[in-house]
Amino acid sequence: MASYALRKRVMVTGGAGFLGSHLCERLVSDGHDVLCVDNFFTGTRDNVAHLLGNPRFELMRHDVTFPLYVEVDEIYNLACPASPVHYQHDPVQTTKTSVHGAINMLGLAKRLRARILQASTSEVYGDPQVHPQTEDYWGHVNPIGARSCYDEGKRCAETLFFDYWRQSRLQIKVARIFNTYGPRMHPNDGRVVSNFIVQALRGQDITIFGEGTQTRSFCYVDDLIDGLVRLMASPEDITGPINLGNPREMTMLELAQQVIALTGSRSQLVFKPLPSDDPRQRNPDITRARQQLSWEPQVALDAGLARTVNYFTGLLQRIDLPA
Ligand code: NAD
Ligand code: UDP
Ligand code: UDP
Repeated sequence: MASYALRKRVMVTGGAGFLGSHLCERLVSDGHDVLCVDNFFTGTRDNVAHLLGNPRFELMRHDVTFPLYVEVDEIYNLACPASPVHYQHDPVQTTKTSVHGAINMLGLAKRLRARILQASTSEVYGDPQVHPQTEDYWGHVNPIGARSCYDEGKRCAETLFFDYWRQSRLQIKVARIFNTYGPRMHPNDGRVVSNFIVQALRGQDITIFGEGTQTRSFCYVDDLIDGLVRLMASPEDITGPINLGNPREMTMLELAQQVIALTGSRSQLVFKPLPSDDPRQRNPDITRARQQLSWEPQVALDAGLARTVNYFTGLLQRIDLPA
């Protein structure tokens, strides 16, 4: 374990996105040299602007569906649009990013004998029939629906990771990330936490899809990043898949009420149709993460939401300025 405290060259694909930018920040502050690779589809230079002057940080524009030849010690593969609005914009490219991207990054890891971590997702469980979800549940996924490019792309990426592990003895780590929120979420990518906060701050109607009785469990970004870093540093026999998320489950109605209370907003709730294949419920069983990584979320929803509201308050003051 001691060697993992040493300074390393770490690559983060998707490093200019929401989670990636927080991960780059954490790795730089841990003393590593960080190569952030991103095609800026949903990520921005702004997300990593504060790191650009740091000699330990390098930003490279590159699409992971194309081969990449660099020299690094560890790879975090996060490149992939993550919100339904973005991943459904060009579904073929979404699947290519997950599948061709995984092949290229695994090929790179194989050549370098570098340890590689995949940002997988709770979406591999689809609309789950087992609740809460444990890692040995195989999932309930529609292979031909609107969400399939993301869900099946991520499932295929997991397959590739485990086949490279079996076939080429790569050191792999697969994290199944559940809904995560925090500063630097996109204000208009349609995810529920950002939508509700932006709507509440602007005094607009809060859009509940369906009856709002579907559930999710929301993890604050700092907790999630800590889980990823612990997983990367874990002993070689810990490959995952391993659930990372906050087990506190709530309905979308409860979330809306909490956001309204926190912002003091006068926004009203409006009900819109439920998108197709929208999972009814989702809640991680994190027993494995507790046992194998000594990890569990520390940040309570109220505290995390308050920090996220602060971030969006500042952002909206800049982007809502009259022209
Ligand atoms: P994000 O959209 O903010 O970040 C994704 C990043 O990948 C962006 O910077 C984007 O420009 C980049 N990217 C997309 N396609 C690329 C390509 N072909 N080549 C290079 N870069 C590319 O999303 P996020 O929330 O930060 O998610 C990061 C990862 O975590 C994703 O793989 C996502 O599937 C996974 N994940 C996120 C959540 C969540 O709640 N945020 C939940 C489960 C899994
Ligand atoms: N690859 C890459 N960078 C590297 C090594 C490989 O991008 O440093 C890509 C390359 O495009 C290759 C893919 O990873 O197609 C898979 O590599 P692997 O060695 O597994 O397969 P092969 O080269 O035999 O197709
Ligand atoms: N949702 C909602 N209103 C919104 C955006 C989303 O009620 O404005 C619902 C959505 O239908 C889903 C849940 O909130 O049931 C979480 O949506 P999100 O897109 O954030 O994540 P995912 O569905 O991928 O878990």
